[in-house]
This record gives sequence, structure tokens and C-alpha cells, in this order.
Amino acid sequence: MSASLSESRRHEVIIIGAGVSGIYQVKRLTDLGIDSIVLEGDDDLGGTWYRNRYPGARFDSESYTYGYSWSREVLDEWSWKERFSAQPENLRYLNFVADKFDLRRHMRFNARVTSMTWDDAAREWTVELQSGETYVARFVIPSLGPLSMPTLPNYPGMDEFTGKSFHTYHWPTEPVALEGKRVGVIGTGATGIQVIGELADKVGELKVFQRRPNWSSPLNNSPISDEEMADIRGRYDEIFANCAESPGGFEHVPDWRGFWKLTADERREHFDFLYSQPGFAILVANFAEIFFDEAANQEISDYIADRIRQRVDDPELAEKLIPRDHGFGMQRLPLETNYFEAYNRDNVRLVDLSDAPIEQITATGIQTTAEHHELDVIVYATGFDAITGGYDRIDIRGVDGVSLAELWHDSPRTFVGVLAHRFPNLFMVAGPQSVSGSTNFPRAIETGVDWVTDLLEHARSRGSTRVEATADAEQEWVDEVVRAHERMMFRRSKGWFTGYNSNVAGHQEGKIRYQAYFGGAPRYAARVTEIAAAGYPGLHLS
Ligand code: NAP
Repeated sequence: MSASLSESRRHEVIIIGAGVSGIYQVKRLTDLGIDSIVLEGDDDLGGTWYRNRYPGARFDSESYTYGYSWSREVLDEWSWKERFSAQPENLRYLNFVADKFDLRRHMRFNARVTSMTWDDAAREWTVELQSGETYVARFVIPSLGPLSMPTLPNYPGMDEFTGKSFHTYHWPTEPVALEGKRVGVIGTGATGIQVIGELADKVGELKVFQRRPNWSSPLNNSPISDEEMADIRGRYDEIFANCAESPGGFEHVPDWRGFWKLTADERREHFDFLYSQPGFAILVANFAEIFFDEAANQEISDYIADRIRQRVDDPELAEKLIPRDHGFGMQRLPLETNYFEAYNRDNVRLVDLSDAPIEQITATGIQTTAEHHELDVIVYATGFDAITGGYDRIDIRGVDGVSLAELWHDSPRTFVGVLAHRFPNLFMVAGPQSVSGSTNFPRAIETGVDWVTDLLEHARSRGSTRVEATADAEQEWVDEVVRAHERMMFRRSKGWFTGYNSNVAGHQEGKIRYQAYFGGAPRYAARVTEIAAAGYPGLHLS
């Protein structure tokens, strides 16, 4: 290897991933004059918003609370057109930010990281790409995103289907002809529910293969006029301050009036109001008790079930769309547009897999135990190996060659979701056991990037070349994550919050993985701020 080539591959910091967190992370580091490079596996930036191009993909956080808060110029110059902006616009936004600050020159695309090895003597990481090239860096900041590892089912015959089939995360970049086509969608999570609502009136025939129904409530999207955008712009400080105080990182805040202090009529009036409100208001501006008190949760669940019955014409079908195995808000809530109305159309049919499971995928469609469904297109809206999946696919070897994937086999272990014992100089932005998995992602991402950047500056200013979480500090944080989890009723439900994914070995029902911190964004932010202010107890710097 020539000297210049080997030099060009040595950086002080490697950031993995050019999504929402990687973009902000490289901005912070390059502003400080720290030599950094972003290695991105895809052929362009944007992460989630580069990949998820399926019809109907859009924010379900208010656009202006999802956008970055850290640049007054960006806040002044960018105008959101919709309260819940769609994927093409979201990708334009990320490109606008990256181009404005000339960040692409610090990014390398088609650079998929496959392994990382820590050298304790040299105090540096060697990072290997799929291409076989290697990079060396003192610090590595994986900015992998919690939902970047899509998972497919394991049905026999999937490769034999002669029509088009793809996971929603890999929706083709070129337009897919759907008009008049027979389309099957497998999965009714937040993604499936968006796709189904969008495709119902655009395809010949739509069959929804549902294993379990999900609770869902209206997104209530609307355009943002120039006047409203001007008003939002004037209130940005207040909006972000509100988000910082809300457990979910949203503008909506919980109602603490006391569920049982109000009459049933008063509670119903509040539910009616929230059901007409945009976004997650129905969940996060609801009475706090719905998350802790079984009876309160039952009442809101009954209310939403009635709403479904009102919206779906066929009463038997409505019952099939109402979850029985978990209460409202006990899994990540999908927000919908025309989802329930889709089932009133003649060309849309629910295939209830709880009656007749899928046996196999055939050359021409899907075979259940009851019948064969002829299809031209199969859409797998089957979710992700959430939160830890992005880490598992990189062979990460720490001190003495210890494998991160093996250590995390049953459940991840971290210190504040950023560091892991025996993995020095590895700073995870919005990693497992942080709040990013459980809140409005970008709000938590900014907390993570700022904290990591401060820690890096702290280490550099002391001349420290090795930063590691102690085993005790890691254990204390894991205990806190478990305690916060145990307080929530949703610990008993299936869903990616609790690490459930039937398509990933070891992520099955009844085996909780403590992947996210559910103590709320304000508590998390206060905790990590306190740690930094105290000079990072729990970390060993040398
Ligand atoms: P998901 O919530 O995990 O849902 C996956 C769906 O696929 C479930 O209905 C699941 O059924 C079904 N499924 C999985 N494997 C199957 C199999 N082998 N056979 C039949 N059905 C199967 O995944 P997602 O919908 O992609 O959503 C993941 C997360 O992405 C969301 O919770 C959200 O955080 C994020 N997201 C965000 C937005 C947004 O911001 N606007 C939009 C979409 C997604 P079971 O329920 O029976 O497992």
C-alpha cells in the first residue's frame, strides 16, 4: 500500500452511517476541526429516508419537531409543506442540510462496514469494508439507526415467486407499476398500515396478510401554509423546549389531571378531542395512566375499538382488525390515513393468518393453509431486527477479541446507550438502551451526538487516547434500563420495543431484550448531562 493511500485511510474518527445522526455527528466534529469520515453502506446519504421509499412513507412526528434544531439558518431557510412530511421531501431536507454545510466531502458511499477490531496496544480501531479495504481510527462512532436492518420471513418458496417482491425498506428506486396489479402486503405494523392506506385505491386488487392486528389511530395530516410556517419559525425555541420536556420528545405532553378524578364523560370528551388531533396526541397527550393502569388502558382500548367499528362497514371484519392480545399503546402505535376505510373497498381483502397461516410462497402467489392467492407483487412489510440488528451485522471485536454480538446475544449491555465495557473508544449515537428507540428519534439523536462530541472533546483536552466504560457503571445502567422497563405495562406485549421479531433467531416471544431506555427523554437527558458535569464517573480515561 502506498504511503499516501494508507494516510488517506487513517482518520481520528470514523462515523458509520450517513443518516440523520451521522449527518449531525460529522457536522459537529468537522466544526471542531476533528478529522472525521463517514462510511455509508448505501450509495447516498439519508439512511432511513434514503431507503424507505414505499408509497405512503412519511413522518409521523410533526415535521418541524423531526427536523434538526441545531442550525438557526436551517430553521430559517427550510419550510415544511406538510405537518407530516413525506419521504421524498424528507430526503430533500437531509440533502439540503448536508449540501448547505458541504458535508458530502466527509462522506464515503458504497462503503459497507463488515468488521471492526480494537487494537489495545495501538489504541485504535481497524475497520474493514465489504470491499476488503480497511480504515484505521482512534474513535469509531456507529450512527446506525435503530431500524436499519430489515427482516424477511422464512417462508419456503420465497425465491421462486415470479412476480415482483421486496421488503418495504428496499422498495425499488425506479417506479413500480401497480395500476391494475394484484398486490399482497404481508405485515400490519406502522409500515404496512401506511402502505395499505396509500395503495388501496391505486392497485387492481389488494390483499392484506395479517398475522396480528395493531392498534392504529388517525395521523390527521394537513398542509402547512406559509403563514403557519412563519408562525412555527417564530416559535421554534418554544417548540424544541416543549419537546425537551416531554417524555416522548414530542410537542404533545401527557395529561396529568388524573384519570380517575374525571368522570367517564369527561374522559370520553378528551378522547374525542385527541382522536381529531394530529400525530401521537392520542397517545402521548393522553392521560398518563393509560401506560400504567390496566383499567385506564382498557378504557382507551375500548374507545379506539369502537372507532374502528364505526369506520369499517363489515362488523365481522372490524372485529378482526381489533387487537385482543395487547392494549392500545402497548406496542409502537402506527398512525394511519384511510387505513380502516381501505377495507370498505371492493378491491381490498383481509387475509387473516390467525385463521389460516401462510404455508409457502409459490411461483404465482401465496399459499395459506386455506387457499392460494394469485399475486403480481408481494410487499414484505415485515419489520426490522430493531436497535441491535445494525450492530450484529458488523463483526465488532473489542479488548482481547471479545465479540459484541456474542456479549449481546441475550440482550444488549451499555453505559447510557453510548459505551460498552471492553469496547473502548466506541461511542454509539442513539445506541441500544438510549432513548432513541422509544422517542421522537431526532430529538434523542441530538442529545446523543452532543454528548458524544463533548466526551470526545473532554478526552482530547486531557490527552486521553482510551475511553472505556467500567463494568460496574455498565451494570448500573443495565439495572436502570430494566427497572424503567418493568414499570411499563407494554413489557408483556410482543413488538420490537421488547425485542420481539419472529424472523430473527433468539428474538422470540417471552424472551425480553432490554433494548431501549423507557425512563423518558427528559430523565435521560438530565442523567447524561449530570454525568458529563461530574467529569464522567463510570468512565475510565487514560
Ligand atoms: P413492525 O412494526 O415490526 O411490523 C411488522 C409486521 O410484519 C407485523 O404486523 C408482523 O406481525 C408482520 N410479520 C413479521 N413477520 C411476519 C411473518 N413471518 N409472517 C406474517 N407477518 C409477519 O415493522 P414496521 O411496520 O416496519 O415498523 C417498524 C417501526 O418502524 C415502527 O414501529 C416505527 O417505529 C418505524 N416506522 C416509522 C414510520 C414513521 O415514522 N412514519 C413509519 C413506518 C415505520 P406480528 O405483529 O404478528 O409480529
